[in-house]
Amino acid sequence: MGSLSSQRIVESIVQVTGHVDRERLQASLATTLYELLAVVDCAEFYRVFDVGRAPVLSLVARASDQGTVLHSSEGLASEGMGGSRKEEANELLAAEQVPGAGECLSSRQALVVAQPPLYHFLYPVFNAFHELVGLLVLRARRALSDADEHLVDAFLQIYRNYLRLIDESEHDALTRLYNRRTFDRDLGRMLAERPPGADHASQRNGRPERRMAVAGARDWLAVMDIDFFKRINDRYGHLYGDEVLLLFANLMRGSFRCYDKLFRFGGEEFVVILKGTDLVGARAALEQFRQAVAGYDFPQVGRVTVSIGFVDIDDQVLPAEVLGYADAALYYAKEHGRNQVCYYRQLVAEGKIEPATVQDSEVELF
Ligand code: GH3
Ligand code: MG
Ligand code: MG
Repeated sequence: MGSLSSQRIVESIVQVTGHVDRERLQASLATTLYELLAVVDCAEFYRVFDVGRAPVLSLVARASDQGTVLHSSEGLASEGMGGSRKEEANELLAAEQVPGAGECLSSRQALVVAQPPLYHFLYPVFNAFHELVGLLVLRARRALSDADEHLVDAFLQIYRNYLRLIDESEHDALTRLYNRRTFDRDLGRMLAERPPGADHASQRNGRPERRMAVAGARDWLAVMDIDFFKRINDRYGHLYGDEVLLLFANLMRGSFRCYDKLFRFGGEEFVVILKGTDLVGARAALEQFRQAVAGYDFPQVGRVTVSIGFVDIDDQVLPAEVLGYADAALYYAKEHGRNQVCYYRQLVAEGKIEPATVQDSEVELF
């Protein structure tokens, strides 16, 4: 380990594992390796989106002599990270823009790219489901020593173990979608950070969001409930019921964009947060999904349909209100034939439902 004291290494492990938030954990990993390895000029952590056959990278954190810059996707506050920290908007990059990234991602192996005077060390990062979700890049003036490489491997292993715990706590075991606990956290966070009346086309947290290009773009919340699911269980048994839930989740993953967030809310109820689109886009995405479900041949079970209620997230104050509005629209869809998508504000404007009032802080979905 050269001149690195075991005390310093232990302190770094404590620091890295002190974050239950994924992005902070990633930033902390980059910071730690930058600080521990004298030869490293810059450490970066990228999130990897698998967009079709061309992966897209999003820079999460860069640690260098400029301090650590966190490029948070959720606009997290930067307290509690220690050292000099600041935040900037997300940067989306094609794999070719990061030397060696394309090869590292396709081979799923660590590799070194020598571009004198710099060496780029790239490490693929996998989640609990063995999906390639991240890329650690170290830029150094010379090759890493064996001891340095061992240290990087050890920290990556600590990171993976810890990430697995976070992944498991955030996801539903059957469908691997995010669970309700994660939904509560994410929605609360989104609403807390959103200035009233803000839309993505103008500003988000006082900074432009590059990927949100649609004028009037907002975030949307849709609640989705499988129609007559009880009958499926009754007729075919719970095992087939579970299989339908799993296939339904796969249809969600295939239908919505990678920036949208997908949740299993409980039972046969699901939630989607659609990011940065307008009413036409949100309705089209949900309608396309409804049709994808209706057109899918579920093994043994055959035809399954879904009812969907949705509302924009902006201008709302309490998570319970947003959920209550989407749920009121879902209730209307259920009462009027099922297998349809209903927009809360349109139903109110057309006098089809009364504006929903939320008395409780807790709302039960349909
Ligand atoms: P509706 O169209 O009105 O939504 O009818 P429904 O039958 O889907 O609605 P209801 O809420 O009455 O029934 C939901 C059923 O979902 C009841 C419960 O047995 C079943 N369920 C909940 N969680 C699970 C699960 O994890 N696996 C399976 N197989 N069934 C589940
Ligand atoms: Mg149902
Ligand atoms: Mg239900």
